Amino acid sequence: MNQALEILRKVFGYDAFRHRQEAIVRTVIEGGDALVLMPTGGGKSLCYQIPALVREGTGVVVSPLIALMQDQVEALRQLGIRAAFLNSTLDAQTVRETEQALLSGGLDLLYVAPERLLGERTLGLLSRSRIALFAIDEAHCVSQWGHDFRPEYRRLSVLHQRFPGVPRLALTATADRRTRAEIAEQLDLADAAWFVNSFDRPNIRYIVSDGASPRDRLWRFLEREHPRDAGIVYCLSRKRVEEVAEWLSRKGRVALPYHAGLPDRLRAHHQARFLREEGVIVVATIAFGMGIDKPDVRFVAHLNLPRSIEAYYQETGRAGRDGLPADAWMAYGLQDVITLRQMIQESEADESHKRITHQKLEAMLGLCELTSCRRQALLAYFDERLEEPCGNCDNCLAPPETWDGTEAARKALSCVWRTGQRFGVTYVVDVLLGKEHERIVANRHHRLSTFGIGADLGAGEWRAIFRQLLAGGWLATDSEGHGTLRLTEKARPLLRGEVTLPLRRPAKGQGRSRGGVRRGSPAESLPEADRLLFEALRARRLELAREQGVPPYVIFHDQTLVEMVVHRPATLLEMEQVPGVGETKLARYGRAFLEVIERFEG
Ligand code: ADP
Ligand code: ZN
Repeated sequence: MNQALEILRKVFGYDAFRHRQEAIVRTVIEGGDALVLMPTGGGKSLCYQIPALVREGTGVVVSPLIALMQDQVEALRQLGIRAAFLNSTLDAQTVRETEQALLSGGLDLLYVAPERLLGERTLGLLSRSRIALFAIDEAHCVSQWGHDFRPEYRRLSVLHQRFPGVPRLALTATADRRTRAEIAEQLDLADAAWFVNSFDRPNIRYIVSDGASPRDRLWRFLEREHPRDAGIVYCLSRKRVEEVAEWLSRKGRVALPYHAGLPDRLRAHHQARFLREEGVIVVATIAFGMGIDKPDVRFVAHLNLPRSIEAYYQETGRAGRDGLPADAWMAYGLQDVITLRQMIQESEADESHKRITHQKLEAMLGLCELTSCRRQALLAYFDERLEEPCGNCDNCLAPPETWDGTEAARKALSCVWRTGQRFGVTYVVDVLLGKEHERIVANRHHRLSTFGIGADLGAGEWRAIFRQLLAGGWLATDSEGHGTLRLTEKARPLLRGEVTLPLRRPAKGQGRSRGGVRRGSPAESLPEADRLLFEALRARRLELAREQGVPPYVIFHDQTLVEMVVHRPATLLEMEQVPGVGETKLARYGRAFLEVIERFEG
C-alpha cells in the first residue's frame, strides 16, 4: 500500500485517496476481484490504474469507447505511464508494435475493445503475456435493460475461465439494483468484493424548468449561467438536434450537432472539437456522451424528458466531473407527458418489458412534478438516503408554491367529460376559457355548463394543470396518438370531491429567482486579478495542447489551474506541491506555467 500511495503522489500529484479508492486498490493489489459502483467523476480510473502500476505485468482495460481510447491513453502518457490501445482504428504496423510491447513487458496499461479482446488472436496473445489485472469499464453495458447494451460484454466471463488467477474489476456509474445484480451474474463476479459509493454528485445543481417555449427558457438559462462554458444539450430526435444546433449557432454560440445519422467522420470531428476547444456546446441525441471524460462540462441540458431516472442520472452525470459547480437543467412541459404516455401505449414490447418501461417513466414524471428536494428523491431511487434537503436543487433554492387545485382540477375533468372525451388539451382549455371559435360553436360546446368556467385562469395555467393531471394519472390520452384526453378510474373520487389536490403553482414568466450567485466557469468566482491569471494559464494550456494535438485537460484540469492561481507557486518545488501536478507533468510543463505566473507577479 505504501507503494500505491507513493504512485498516487508522484505520478498523479494527489495527496490522498478519495472515498473507497484505498480499499479497492488494496483488494486488487492483493489479487481479489472487485465490483466498483461510483458516480461519474468519483475517481474510478485510479482504482485500476494504480494496482496495474503496482502489480507485475500489464493491466488490461476493457472499454467499449473506441473513439475515446486515444485520448485516454494520451492522458496516461502525459503522466509518464506506458499505455497503449488495441482497436479497429489501428494500422497493422502499430498493432504489431503494441503486441510486441505487451509480450516484452513494456506496457503498464492496455485498453482493448471487447470484440477485439474476445478474438482468439488477442486471447492467445494475453495468455503469453504477464497480466496484472482486468478492468471491465462501463460494466453496465452487460445489461439488456440499459440503452448502452453491448452483447459482447456478456461473453466476458471467459476471462475468468481463461485467466483464473488474474484479479478482475468491474466498474460502472450506473446505479440501479437490477443492473448491479446483472453485472455480478453475467461477468461471473459472484465472489467479488462490492464497493458501492454514494451516488450523490453534490456539485451538480438539478433544475427542472416547466412552462411554454423550452428553447427560449434554455437560452435565458445559458445567457444567465453559462455564457462561455462548454456543455451538452440533449434532444430526442435527429431533426431536433440539427435545428437546435443551428439555432444556437445563429445566436452566436459554437454549437455542433451529434447524432447517429451524421457521417462517422463528421461525428468524430465534432466530438474532437468539443474535447479540444473551450466553450463548445454539443447538441446531441443520447448517442453522445458515454465515456466522455471531459472534466469541465459545466452544464447538461435536456430539451426533452429522459425516459427513465437512470438515463437522466447518467446523462446529467456528464456535467462537472472535475467536482466544480455544474448545472443539470431540464425543460419539462405538457407535451412531454403526452408523448411519453403515448410511447408506452404504442410500444410493442412484451408485457413484462412494457411494465418495467412504464414504471421507469412514472418515476421520471414523479421526479419532475416533485415539490420537495430533487436530490433526495433521485438518490432514494437508487436506494440511498439523504437525510436533509440538499440546498442545491431548484426546489430547495426556490421552494415552489402549491395551491389547492381541487376546484380547478374538477373543472378540468368535468370539461373533458362534457366534451365527450374526444378532444386534446388545447381544445378543452379553449372551452374552459370560453372561447367562442368556430369549431367549438359547430360542436355546440359553447352551450355546455363548463363553457367559460375557467376564465379566472390563463391558458398557461390551465396547461400546467392538465400536465399535472396527466402526470398524476387522473387523465390519460388515447392510443391513436391524437392526444385525446379521457378520464381514468382515479378521476372519480376527485370529481366527487372526496379528495383534495395540491398543485404546483406555475412558474411566473422567466424570472424565477434562483438564489445564489451566477455560476459559470470556476474563474467567475475569483477576484478580478485572479481571474485574469486564470485566463492566462488557460490560454497557455490551450497553446501547449494545440502543439501536441491533445485536449487541454490532459495537460492540467481547470481545478489544478485554480490551485495555481490560489497558491501562486514561484519555484518548481512549490509547483510540485500544487494538487494535480505530478512528477512528469512538473518536468514537462512546470516552467511554462511558472513563467505565466511570474509575468503576473511582476
Ligand atoms: P470516473 O472515471 O469515476 O468518472 P475519473 O477517474 O475520471 O472519474 O476521476 C475524476 C476526476 O477526479 C479526475 O480529474 C481525477 O484525476 C480526479 N481524482 C481521482 N482520484 C482523485 C484523488 N484521490 N484525489 C484528487 N483527485 C482525484
Ligand atoms: Zn434539494
